[in-house]
Amino acid sequence: MSGPLSRLKAWHRERKLERVRPERRDFDRTVSRFPILHDLPSTALDALFERSTEILAGKDFFGAAGLDPSHDDLLDVAVLAALPILSLDIDWYRGFHTFILYPGEFVAEVEEMTEDGLIHTGPEIRAGEAWAHGPVVLAMEEVRRSGQGQGFNVVAHELAHQIDQLNGDMDGYPPLPKHMDRQQWAQVFSAAWQRLQDELDHDQEPSLDPYAAESPAEFFAVATETYFDTPGWLHDQHPDIYAQLDHLFQISKWFRN
Ligand SMILES: [Zn+2]
Repeated sequence: MSGPLSRLKAWHRERKLERVRPERRDFDRTVSRFPILHDLPSTALDALFERSTEILAGKDFFGAAGLDPSHDDLLDVAVLAALPILSLDIDWYRGFHTFILYPGEFVAEVEEMTEDGLIHTGPEIRAGEAWAHGPVVLAMEEVRRSGQGQGFNVVAHELAHQIDQLNGDMDGYPPLPKHMDRQQWAQVFSAAWQRLQDELDHDQEPSLDPYAAESPAEFFAVATETYFDTPGWLHDQHPDIYAQLDHLFQISKWFRN
């Protein structure tokens, strides 16, 4: 496509990116706050810089509960959000337009069905939340605890939910790139899901954060969080899951050349 309209669109897009593109030294300072980014080769960091800029340009950021998000807050979120789509593209975030940022953990009203079939609505403390086709809600305190290489990454977790629901329900079955085998994905995740259920049933040490056992959607989100935060650990503990997630997110390719 190279008609006048697409040239105009490209021009607008470039102007918008220029307006929000952070200073490189501010980006570098953000990267320094998150140890999981320290080993990325410089080519990957350059790509992360561009991807973060696309996120700043394409998404809205709102504060909640009295938070007026600072430029550093926006950069923390944009840089961590850029990592899952570093080897993909911004289109993988087409399912939402807005980040809502709370200063700390927030209270969400949740509906829950009890064993007797009644639906209760009640408060629940959250570090993050991904609504169906709605905003990504994050607590900044938890964002800053993410990406430390300790297995916790609320940004990767909530964005995994967003990617999961691109093809319909949040069910742990995201759209897969053409080079991936859907059946193999299902087999690997079902087996790991079963293993975690068995471990919990038998009071054994769980091989993944037990929160993953809540639902296949949470399993995928927790596994994704682990893939980005403690990849070496996931590779050793769950080589099959690591391989599937690496086919999807393709982070290891940056280290190959
Ligand atoms: Zn979740």
